[in-house]
Amino acid sequence: MQLSDIDFSEHLAKYRDHEVVIIIASVGKAEEEWKEQIVCGICGFPQDGAGECPRCRLEIEEKAKELRARREREAFFREIEEIARKAWEDFDQEDPDIQSADMG
Ligand SMILES: [Zn+2]
Repeated sequence: MQLSDIDFSEHLAKYRDHEVVIIIASVGKAEEEWKEQIVCGICGFPQDGAGECPRCRLEIEEKAKELRARREREAFFREIEEIARKAWEDFDQEDPDIQSADMG
């Protein structure tokens, strides 16, 4: 009896004329097989080997792009806010004159 390149004949010889039960149980995946089955720990995308996950990298790039766009929008709104604030400050500075004019 032979399984892959392991010959059991020698071991089984001593059980000649006996009924034997051979139990074959999996105790884990073989090293090579295991390497092929690497999946990304974040998204579960199957990978060829250890390293950066292509799907996650894409997602990170997308997020970075979004973030950059948001930063630009925020900067734009901050600029508008700044302009609006300055306009209000100018208005506030004019205000006391109007009030004092009313009072006087
Ligand atoms: Zn991933």
